[in-house]
Amino acid sequence: MRYGTTKKILVTGGAGFLGSHLCERLLAQGHEILCVDNFFTGTRRNIAHLLGNSNFEMMRHDISFPLYVEVDEIYNLACPASPVHYQFDPVQTTKTSVIGAINMLGLAKRVKAKILQASTSEVYGDPEVHPQPEEYWGRVNPIGYRSCYDEGKRCAETLFFDYRRQHNVEIKVVRIFNTYGPRMHPNDGRVVSNLVLQALRDKDITLYGDGSQTRSFCYVDDLVDGFMKMMETGADVTGPINIGNPGEFTIRQLADTVIELTNSRSKIVYRPLPPDDPRQRRPDISKAQAILNWNPTIELQEGLKRTIEYFEKYVRL
Ligand code: NAD
Ligand code: UDP
Ligand code: UDP
Repeated sequence: MRYGTTKKILVTGGAGFLGSHLCERLLAQGHEILCVDNFFTGTRRNIAHLLGNSNFEMMRHDISFPLYVEVDEIYNLACPASPVHYQFDPVQTTKTSVIGAINMLGLAKRVKAKILQASTSEVYGDPEVHPQPEEYWGRVNPIGYRSCYDEGKRCAETLFFDYRRQHNVEIKVVRIFNTYGPRMHPNDGRVVSNLVLQALRDKDITLYGDGSQTRSFCYVDDLVDGFMKMMETGADVTGPINIGNPGEFTIRQLADTVIELTNSRSKIVYRPLPPDDPRQRRPDISKAQAILNWNPTIELQEGLKRTIEYFEKYVRL
């Protein structure tokens, strides 16, 4: 039962990097948050500061098993996001994406909740179209090392659209492009956390391949704004909608910026490129601009400064 404008909101993967920021922002709006996480890549530390808030509840649970709770909205973020973590147990990654989506959609159907899916730019695979608009169907290897994640997320999108067509569930699908910021897992192998930690420790900076591949990096606060704006839209807005920062950088440029901002003595070393590593990635965000009136506001330099500040404290621990 709803009281006033306070909503009961389920955030799956709420103890992870993006989920913990989202929980914080939703709590600040006065909502009741149920954070569900199996702590595979998330940590209690990410949400320790929220545990004393009477509107915040933490539940240890794996979403590939059914979950019976009463909520008004669901943000489905549970899924390891970094290649190192999602390839650690690839079968579990697919189960989390696919069976997890079925369970969360079954829940949304039963309690008539709006449900938002954290999808990914990986649905575009190694793209031939640049920048990537939502209409592009992608170029994805179905049997490679990244497939458990890419195909799992693609199948989750299929399930979201079929639950809408078949059961009229109110869905929102957001395709997230590389997002970074405080509380990224220090050992998850993603490029921003790797490079920042290596630079702060004056260790070699590892560039995979020749460092000429590109990515577009979105700061976490901008991403969370996009999520919340998407959830506020009417039932006719389903997405998929790209959320990311269209500023595009080579990994080499990212390394140079990190070295400069940390005054590091690190040297760059080259390592083999992982299989199926996309050559380039940049979101076309015209839909997010037109439909959500959303634009990223935090430039890479500024976002990196805030991330470096977080990891500086981490390194000193
Ligand atoms: P993360 O690994 O920090 O967070 C994922 C959270 O999900 C963790 O807390 C983990 O413990 C939890 N989890 C994993 N499997 C679970 C399961 N079966 N049941 C319950 N909890 C489970 O990653 P993140 O960067 O915060 O990513 C959050 C979501 O956003 C993911 O769905 C990811 O695919 C998506 N995404 C993130 C990015 C990015 O750049 N950060 C880009 C594209 C998509
Ligand atoms: N489910 C869940 N919580 C709920 C309702 C459903 O976890 O509150 C799960 C349920 O276990 C089922 C899945 O969601 O496996 C899909 O539910 P749906 O009602 O769509 O399918 P059905 O139960 O008919 O297979
Ligand atoms: N990368 C790199 N050095 C690292 C970690 C990653 O050069 O220490 C590269 C990686 O090969 C990829 C890019 O940086 O081209 C982004 O990698 P990440 O794992 O962060 O995300 P994704 O490949 O899923 O976009």
